[in-house]
Amino acid sequence: MPASLTPTLTSFRRIVVKVGSSLLVDQSAGGLKRDWLDTLAADIAALHKDKRDVLVVSSGAIALARAVMKLPSGVLKLEEAQAAAAIGQIALARSWSESLGAHGIAAGQVLLTLGDTEERRRYLNARSTIDKLLEWHSVPVINENDTVATSEIRYGDNDRLAARVATMMSADLLVLLSDVDGLYDKPPSSGDARLVPVVPRITPEIEAMAGVSESETSRGGMLTKIEAAKIATTAGTHMVIASGRVPHPLQAIVNGAPCTWFLTPANPVTARKKWIAGSLEPRGALTIDEGAVKALRIGKSLLPAGVIKIEGAFGRGDAVIVRGPDGAEVGRGLIAYDVEDAEKIKGRSSADVLLILGYTGRTEMIHRDDLVVGGH
Ligand code: GLU
Repeated sequence: MPASLTPTLTSFRRIVVKVGSSLLVDQSAGGLKRDWLDTLAADIAALHKDKRDVLVVSSGAIALARAVMKLPSGVLKLEEAQAAAAIGQIALARSWSESLGAHGIAAGQVLLTLGDTEERRRYLNARSTIDKLLEWHSVPVINENDTVATSEIRYGDNDRLAARVATMMSADLLVLLSDVDGLYDKPPSSGDARLVPVVPRITPEIEAMAGVSESETSRGGMLTKIEAAKIATTAGTHMVIASGRVPHPLQAIVNGAPCTWFLTPANPVTARKKWIAGSLEPRGALTIDEGAVKALRIGKSLLPAGVIKIEGAFGRGDAVIVRGPDGAEVGRGLIAYDVEDAEKIKGRSSADVLLILGYTGRTEMIHRDDLVVGGH
């Protein structure tokens, strides 16, 4: 694909930027590369204008603690890594807060463990919180909660964490900034290696190239980046790997710096909806009225008011079938309420939901991002 056909950053509306540890922390100089971070924050501020959402997944907690505490190099024991993360994370979050704050942007720290994206109920909670941060036009600064995550329940690397966050938040672009500028067809040291500018689909050949690309010093090498690309593109999120070894690394991508784009197989919305439709077992069914059917067909969310009947035994976040008044399937989606609560609020106006349940959940029974209409 000619370079002119590659997307540009500004054509996306919700962007997750993942920053690798080696970019942020200089072990020999004993701390955080604040000048570089300030240039990245300036780029984020530029993208963040015009109602674009930006989320950051920042590594560097453990690396920063190593530098600050002068810990010996080499593998840390679990409890050492957890303690190091506690010290590093607080400094990391403060730096992000100050750098973004200089542009009038509030940073919101979010520390996730594996269950927050992999268990559907917790997933909905994490998503609502991050949604609220975005609604407030702040920039979530996300990392794994390394201080409590033990080896069995870790993402382990922030490339995959960033991909899960991107898909959870329906981002349309994931930018992986690292110390390599993309995927090479041969080991970069071999002399005639060429950067692959666009990967339309992840084939076994592409995976083989990841095996040969020289990887960075921190946890995620090229293999985890390809894993991240698979997660992201299958769910409808484009991904780009680019070097963060330059000041203003996002601006550099816009200006045509070498990088590798991984494209989604179809347009992002279609691909994500396919993923919802294809990967989940329905646990119940909702029958909705004609007005709600019409609303769904033009892309709206399903509100409690339009629901006539509820069947099945589902929990918040489970997949359910949505049927029209004649019983024909209209679509499928992830429901925002447990069956007991859904039963209580069916047919009621969104304003009544608080009174009935005693808490405000989502106003939608099924949010439109979680709904596939007409796919079956
Ligand atoms: N969560 C780790 C940290 O902040 C980094 C993991 C990674 O490098 O992928 O130190």
